[in-house]
Amino acid sequence: MPVKWPAKTYVSQLMSLSDLLTLTPAGLYCPQADVHIDPVRAVPRALITHGHSDHARAGHGAVLATPQTLAIMALRYGENFCGTRQPVEYGETVHVGAVDVSFHPAGHVLGSAQILLQTPLIRAVVSGDYKCALDPSCAPFELVRCDAFVTEATFGLPVFRHPDAAHEWRG
Ligand SMILES: [Zn+2]
Repeated sequence: MPVKWPAKTYVSQLMSLSDLLTLTPAGLYCPQADVHIDPVRAVPRALITHGHSDHARAGHGAVLATPQTLAIMALRYGENFCGTRQPVEYGETVHVGAVDVSFHPAGHVLGSAQILLQTPLIRAVVSGDYKCALDPSCAPFELVRCDAFVTEATFGLPVFRHPDAAHEWRG
């Protein structure tokens, strides 16, 4: 059954990043689409970047994510992890309120996505976790043109130096 998302509308003055994204107690929120991105608590509508538990949580009313991320969430939390779900393929655009939403490979884990939020006046990408090095377990990171890039920085400090991925696989 298709998920009920707000009908497409147009906003004539939607020019700045703060018009498009704001921080709430539940996490990053897009008021023009009435959705949270990777919320930290249960919300009515959520966009999920990838299946790791610090991004993908159970209990949301409706979830948009890649098919692989939805499958990971179902494995992690059980088939009833949310009210309704809608898979979105990489590059597919879904109209949510006044915002066009699309998912693009983040190169992090299977199904991981950067989420592009686009209006006629601004394009913002929410990265989720991402990796620019090639990883055969998932689609490679895709550079997405945008006006604003909201990035994860879990390992952004210079103290973090990850070994070559091939070395890690040999384990
Ligand atoms: Zn992650």
